Amino acid sequence: MPTSPVPIHPPHCVIGVIGGGQLGRMLALAARRMGVRTAIWTGGLEAPAVEVADEVIDLPFDDPQALEHFRQVATVATVEFENIPHETLRAVAAHVPLHPSPHAISICQNREREKNFLLSHGIPCTWFRVVSNAEELAAALAELKGPGVLKTADFGYDGHGQVKLEGHENAAEIWKNFGAPRGVLEAWVPFEREISVMVARGADGRCVCYDPAENRHRSHILDVSIVPARIPAEVAERATAIATRVAEALDYRGIMGVEFFLKADGSLIVNEMAPRPHNSGHHTLDACETSQFEQQLRMVLGLPAGSTRLHTPVAMLNLLGDLWPEETTPPDWTPLFEDGRAFLHLYGKRHARGRRKMGHANLLGPDVEDALARAETLKARWLKDAGR
Ligand code: AMP
Repeated sequence: MPTSPVPIHPPHCVIGVIGGGQLGRMLALAARRMGVRTAIWTGGLEAPAVEVADEVIDLPFDDPQALEHFRQVATVATVEFENIPHETLRAVAAHVPLHPSPHAISICQNREREKNFLLSHGIPCTWFRVVSNAEELAAALAELKGPGVLKTADFGYDGHGQVKLEGHENAAEIWKNFGAPRGVLEAWVPFEREISVMVARGADGRCVCYDPAENRHRSHILDVSIVPARIPAEVAERATAIATRVAEALDYRGIMGVEFFLKADGSLIVNEMAPRPHNSGHHTLDACETSQFEQQLRMVLGLPAGSTRLHTPVAMLNLLGDLWPEETTPPDWTPLFEDGRAFLHLYGKRHARGRRKMGHANLLGPDVEDALARAETLKARWLKDAGR
């Protein structure tokens, strides 16, 4: 597979991005600022990155012409979401340096491989069993003897394809409605907090980490991240060390998000990894010296890492579709602009359906409590305005 042994200095390159969602959009915006061109391969899906990319390949990931076009135009390549067919990744990597590698992506895109990877490297993860029929699910539930969650092995995100179980359900019934050929039954983790670490690993194998984010979810979707997380320094150090170990064990190049459950006894359990910029790293756009998107570009181009220092405490509020009063009517942003230290990032999506990620706001503060309280006030106001 081709590698890029020497750093590529802007503007002599085109970064090919597989995927055209909001992460691709923010990556393309960071690239623009640095004078780097981007070619976005959308996969034929609705793609927020399209309007800011230099070139768009608006075809499915299994289209041979799209592959050929992408390979011709990209100097180096990366992904902005992980649910891309492995054949596509391998076919790209055979001609263009692709960071992270297809191997690293394939581990992170499938819960079974991800859990087995963690186990084999002695990295703490929750108890699990892989199941592919009702009998196996029944046996796994009998072994678990308590609450759990059944997740699809492949292509899961934001709680999609997940069923919370108390442990006494009828396995045949659950499996009939599950609809995926393979699942991972996980023990439910009674966590105290959820945190995540963004780690970036360069061409020389050196890792830098951002301060852990403390994440709160609303029905499985990230609602708010605050940084610094309200955890002891020793826990933050341990989380950072584990994230670094994960990146090293994957021989990873680029930025990745490692999500953890923190239990009351102080132990940390890895929930999952995201081989790309991550929603819990969006605060870096306004609160850190280098954003996660610029960091990703630096890693992919083989440039040195930028400082990950958090310069201001921050709360990142996800703006989900349920804040929109109507599908095409956004919330009234006046209170956000009046705040003065709140910064709006919209992804250019025209239709606010359900709980779609439409944008986010970063609220800077003297401390996280202040920033969080202002984020909550804004969200409550918008939910009320939307009649929810
Ligand atoms: P995931 O898509 O696996 O990241 O799950 C989304 C969210 O569901 C997590 O961030 C947790 O809030 C919750 N969750 C998932 N798995 C578990 C688990 N095994 N125990 C407790 N909460 C979980």
